[in-house]
Amino acid sequence: MSDTIAPVLGEATVQDLRETVRGQVFTPGDDGYAEACRVWNGEHDDRRPAIVVRCTGSADVIAAVGFARSNHLAIAVRGGGHSLAGFSTCDDGIVIDLSPMSGVRVDPVARRATVGGGAVWADVDHETQAHGLATTGGLVSTTGVAGFTLGGGIGWTMRKYGLACDNLVSADVVTADGRLVQASETQNADLLWGLRGGAGNFGIVTQFEFDLHPLGPMVYAGPIFYPAEVARDLLHAFREWAGLASDDVTGIVNLTTAPPLPVIPEEWHGKKVAAFIAASAGPVDQGEALVRAFRGVAEPIADLLGPMPYSMIQTLIDPLWEKGIHAYFKATKLARLDDELIDRLCRMHLEAPGPQCEIHVHQMGGAVGRVPEGATAFPERSMPFVLNAVTGWHDPLAGQEHREWARGVIAAASSASTGRAYVNFLGDAGAARAAYSAETYARLVALKDQYDPTNVFRLNQNVEPSGA
Ligand SMILES: Cc1cc2nc3c(=O)[nH]c(=O)nc-3n(C[C@H](O)[C@H](O)[C@H](O)COP(=O)(O)OP(=O)(O)OC[C@H]3O[C@@H](n4cnc5c(N)ncnc54)[C@H](O)[C@@H]3O)c2cc1C
Repeated sequence: MSDTIAPVLGEATVQDLRETVRGQVFTPGDDGYAEACRVWNGEHDDRRPAIVVRCTGSADVIAAVGFARSNHLAIAVRGGGHSLAGFSTCDDGIVIDLSPMSGVRVDPVARRATVGGGAVWADVDHETQAHGLATTGGLVSTTGVAGFTLGGGIGWTMRKYGLACDNLVSADVVTADGRLVQASETQNADLLWGLRGGAGNFGIVTQFEFDLHPLGPMVYAGPIFYPAEVARDLLHAFREWAGLASDDVTGIVNLTTAPPLPVIPEEWHGKKVAAFIAASAGPVDQGEALVRAFRGVAEPIADLLGPMPYSMIQTLIDPLWEKGIHAYFKATKLARLDDELIDRLCRMHLEAPGPQCEIHVHQMGGAVGRVPEGATAFPERSMPFVLNAVTGWHDPLAGQEHREWARGVIAAASSASTGRAYVNFLGDAGAARAAYSAETYARLVALKDQYDPTNVFRLNQNVEPSGA
């Protein structure tokens, strides 16, 4: 692909923009403006951008970037709109919304998928499963492919097939100066390195290309729920199991509250529980052996771990995390899961201020850890666990106590933490420098200097260019 120069709009008016793009343009007062402002996290729904442009292709994205620059507007880029920190909306600036660009094309022979920059994981799973193929996607299917992949991408198949960013083969990117460039191992390879974990700092990805792997339609997957009283035993068993488990399987412990689902006995609804959730990317008939250790931990409340469609595990918890919920996450990478930390997590679970306060301990390792450190921008691949304090609430006044609880959970883990976070699991901005090693951060700054020296794309976990 040859680089193309953006049309210069000069001091373009909104009318010029409407005439230039094929997608919809919304300004305050337009029908549909309020809906166009909405993002997943209700905490950020009160932002009021000057313009929302729903792009239908790279040309619209190029025009929108040119318009924003000529009018000195802050740019918020929106893929799936799930940013916890609210990066995909803004006050007074322009939202470049790629949600109409959700097309997915699968090449079943080459085992590759090309995916639009505004697709969500449900779009990808739908097309790829038609061929018995998959790539690592999110635990909630409404999450955007773009933000998820650009920050790393933790999902059920990662220990076998790597993070989402490890499966990224190439990308089409609109840069800050309005060029459309391709990043791959053979073209702009430095840019591809930065897209694999560098969190949307270098341009707007209008198309992704991913490696696909044989998977499904049935997999061995699902949750086992136990009473909260055995959370400690569960976490001890999880710690022993996690380091020895086959790369086929990826597991999580979730200290949570039993949702009111028919599959959970009614007397447990609303009570504190501890869940082990896993998915195997290996043969279905070998799945049980991989997780047998958990069947002896305690008498379960409900054991739903067994053969199920891959499409089901990918959408299982969607109804609990619907658009409009208020949410805050805070996370850290763990060097170890020691006895003291386990005790603290179990205690803090019982002190949670609401039913959608969850403590997730993600098992890492496998294919994630086999990619050499520094080969991608995603840092600290050797960590055995990621700890995520997840909160959601509906009463807009309940935010402070939820945020404080999540921060408390992560503070309680400080002695076992590597000190670095995973950029996608953060409800606060300004975390980039602490998330990366000094060496990786310096390389990200050099890349930012090259592709976005005036920080046009700064609504993200921002890597500031050296001239900032
Ligand atoms: C309910 C829920 C479940 C989640 N589950 C997981 C999980 O299982 N694993 C995991 O790793 N993470 C998970 N996350 C975190 C998720 O990866 C991040 O919130 C991610 O940023 C969402 O991407 P998005 O495209 O939906 O978000 P957006 O809000 O659209 O964007 C997020 C960031 O990416 C930038 N961006 C968006 N589109 C583009 C583009 N096309 N080009 C360049 N930059 C772009 C935005 O500007 C913003 O900075 C979850 C989040 C939520 C809310």
